[in-house]
Order: sequence, then C-alpha cells, then structure tokens
Amino acid sequence: MTWQALAVDPSVAAAAFAAWSAPACTGLRTRPARLGERPSVAVAIATAVPVHHRSDAAWTDLDSHPDTGAMRSATIALHPDHWRDLADAAQTALLVHEIGHALGLAHAVHRQTVMHPGLRDHVTLFDDDQHAVCTLFPRSARPAEPPDRPLLVVLALVLALIVARAGQGQPRAQCAAATKPSRTG
Ligand SMILES: [Zn+2]
Repeated sequence: MTWQALAVDPSVAAAAFAAWSAPACTGLRTRPARLGERPSVAVAIATAVPVHHRSDAAWTDLDSHPDTGAMRSATIALHPDHWRDLADAAQTALLVHEIGHALGLAHAVHRQTVMHPGLRDHVTLFDDDQHAVCTLFPRSARPAEPPDRPLLVVLALVLALIVARAGQGQPRAQCAAATKPSRTG
C-alpha cells in the first residue's frame, strides 16, 4: 500500500501507517508513493469542508471496485482548523484511526480499539485492531489477482470432457440439447 501525505509532517504520517503494518501476523506493507506514482491512500488538508464534516477533525472517502468491493484508493481529508490544533501524538492517533477506515474498517463501539470514534491519543494498535488487519491482510496474502485465463480454459475443457463422458449412455436428444449452448455461444 502506497501513501502520500501533503502538508503533513512526514514523520507523523509514517508513524501512523507503520502502526498498521507492525503486527507480525499481517502481510500489509506500506511505503510513501514515489514521485509521479498514484498513491493508494492520499492524505491532505481539506480545501473545502462539507457541512456534515464541520465538527470532524478528519474524514476518509473510499473508492472501491464496483463489482468486487475491493478498495482501489482512499482519500483522508484533514479539517484545516481542527488538524492544526492537534499535538503531534494526537495527529498520529487521528491518522491511525483514519487509515483504519482506508483499510476498510468501520467504527467500533468498545474502547479497546483505535476504531472507537472517541479515542484521541492512542497511536498503537490494540489486540482487536491487530486481529482485524491480520484478517484483512494475512501474512501469507498475495495481492488479489484474477486466475490465469489458460487455467480457466483447461478447467472448462476438463469439465466438458467429464460431461461428455457422463452423457455417453444417455439418449441422443438429451446430449444434443446439452451441447447446443457451446455451439451457439
Ligand atoms: Zn472514524
């Protein structure tokens, strides 16, 4: 996961992202985006504050794939006034929380998690947070990729062979009906 933080102390941003990749059980890796590279998580001071975010110190918008729901990118917006009022530790804590949203986590009702909306000063993950990130991004996980097309073709051929053999003893009309879709489509 790559990130870019504009107008934010780089050490604050780096500490917040590092918190989520710290657990030994997660394969999540984060790094600053290179020059010209589109970051998967962008952090920036909001230039305009929507009415419903007026009292929020920060908020996160997700762009997810319309079919799979997989997160494509996230934007963490920082309230220009509230953000600058915070000390470094509080800024880190706030970013840790918002990065949790960027990873796909919702608010939690109990307080032993950085995803509790009222938490203000916790910069490291609780057990529940570690469990969440390790479930979403387990250590052995590889980036999600569609199966190779040749493999699908082989599987389809094997399946067709099995169906054809299974149908050998059946009446011819039924075989013709079963094979018709593959000829037309
Ligand atoms: Zn939140």
